[in-house]
Amino acid sequence: MVVEMVVLTESGSAVAKLGPATNEKDSEKLRLIEEMTANTDEVQKKVLAEILKRNAETEYLRRYGLDGATDRAAFKAKVPVVTYEDLQPDIQRIANGDRSAILSAHPISEFLTSSGTSAGERKLIPTIKEDLGRRQLLHSLQMPVMNCYVPGLDQGKGLYFLFVKSEMKTPGELTAQPLLTSFIKSEHFKNRPYDPYNVYTSPTAAILCTDSFQSMYAQMLCGLLQRLDVLRVGAVFASGLLRAIRFLQLHWQDLCNDIAAGSLTIKVTDHSVRAAVAELLSQPDPELAGFLAAECSKGDWAGIITRIWPNTKYLDVIVTGAMAQYISTLEYYSGGLPMVCTMYASSECYFGLNLRPICEPSEVSYTIMPNMGYFEFLPHGDDHVQDQSQRLVDLADVEVGKEYELVITTYAGLNRYCVGDILRVTGFYNTAPQFRFVRRKNVLLSIDSDKTDEAELQRAVESASALLRPYDGTVVEYTSHAYTKSIPGHYVIYWELLAKGVYNGDEALEVLKRDGVMERCCLAMEETLNAVYRQCRVADGSIGPLEIRVVRGGTFDDLMDYAISRGASINQYKVPRCVTLPPILELLNSRVVSTHFSPAPPTWSPLRRPAN
Ligand code: AMP
Repeated sequence: MVVEMVVLTESGSAVAKLGPATNEKDSEKLRLIEEMTANTDEVQKKVLAEILKRNAETEYLRRYGLDGATDRAAFKAKVPVVTYEDLQPDIQRIANGDRSAILSAHPISEFLTSSGTSAGERKLIPTIKEDLGRRQLLHSLQMPVMNCYVPGLDQGKGLYFLFVKSEMKTPGELTAQPLLTSFIKSEHFKNRPYDPYNVYTSPTAAILCTDSFQSMYAQMLCGLLQRLDVLRVGAVFASGLLRAIRFLQLHWQDLCNDIAAGSLTIKVTDHSVRAAVAELLSQPDPELAGFLAAECSKGDWAGIITRIWPNTKYLDVIVTGAMAQYISTLEYYSGGLPMVCTMYASSECYFGLNLRPICEPSEVSYTIMPNMGYFEFLPHGDDHVQDQSQRLVDLADVEVGKEYELVITTYAGLNRYCVGDILRVTGFYNTAPQFRFVRRKNVLLSIDSDKTDEAELQRAVESASALLRPYDGTVVEYTSHAYTKSIPGHYVIYWELLAKGVYNGDEALEVLKRDGVMERCCLAMEETLNAVYRQCRVADGSIGPLEIRVVRGGTFDDLMDYAISRGASINQYKVPRCVTLPPILELLNSRVVSTHFSPAPPTWSPLRRPAN
């Protein structure tokens, strides 16, 4: 399969101008990108002044004595750099129903539930109504950019696996839901005008169905029925697309039966989904069913995406950051299709776009759009410096090659808020810097949208190892690995045990196994992990049961010897709490004496009650 591209020339790190646009609407959007990126600093100054002016009377800005000032100097001198935890008391008041202008002069319209957690629960990010327009604006720039590289995307459809989650209400009756759910349920999405570049195979009713099985089933079925129309296949994150492939592996027979019979399984009960699917599945198509069954029953699923959807030009899926671990699996299933990462965004703010979308995943850079919010950058690595707020660099002033932590000020009232993302500057588009996503700060393990940090893993090991105490056993060392060779992936925790009691090591392990203690340890760890982990595990099925691999005594000494043989200092050596390097994994796996899986899902229930 060949992706036709309009090849752009590049000189050094400077990216050539985007274009030419394929139509008048696109050229307007490309002009906007040019305008914004040509005047980065002026746009940023204006955005900050606008935010400070409208929020001048908020309790938050008054607290820091800004006195209505709207200039950078006053802002930087008076307003501190904060984390979510610093804002939590204010956010809690809003969640409890205080409608006064605490953070934002505009009413908080809802909370977005971030996949980032605080004290084990999803962060609640305040948002205002007009933010939807800003998000829509960034979304609307994606296709005009894509059209510069891949022509003919108006000649077919996109097969996108998109899902919504049930919304919750805070005690003060504000809606709390994930960002994508909020966007999909908005009028911007539901009543979008027809656009030949944004036609999806999934009926809106299927995307809006909160039952994840029915939604996925209907979206997959509609994608199969329109297989020759499909020009791009996507999901938000790589893990989501792999989940869809796994779903096909598990359900292709039912899907083929439906296509052969021309009627939808009774397992899909949602009336609006049934009605939407019926428009496409109006008569039996034994030929298509036979073709699909033949492809899916071959033992080898290599290149299944292009075998079923042969006109696919690229995968539209984020494979940067934690999702990079899925690149090789996606290459396998897609037969090496380009993977396009179009956007960098969060619940707090939409940041920017990839202006050179057809590139290797390792080369992806996002250009932050200066009109989305006010952006500052904390040079990464000097955490010991006391007054961090004085060291923040403005968007236009970052330096190529340096790493920074992103700090944002938003229209909805987050001021100098640390997002937790570490970015490296790779170049500039006009005067707007381009960033490679390096990593999320403090994240050790991630399979889907879960993010587990070192402290959370430590707590989980501690709570599980309490179950060993009656057996006089302890965990002497541990490390972890995000196992993604299976779908869904799962956490693997390597434990080295010490038996202090009457039993020697081998006997102790036998007793633990006999009593099912190790399985209970797996579950105890899962119970202690954060709400996003447990939701992925229980409600979404996007993470498999946690596994403990017990390694033989002395393994962690061998691990240290290995690190020292590779140049690590013996004095500074610390056991890595997460391992990814193949030789280290090989070493650990060669020492495994027993493996154990969590026998049941952990408990998870939405913190707040579901909305009616
Ligand atoms: P959430 O607030 O749950 O929407 O998650 C937002 C976070 O997801 C960001 O702060 C990043 O850490 C991560 N993220 C979003 N977009 C990308 C991307 N294109 N590449 C890598 N990580 C991303």
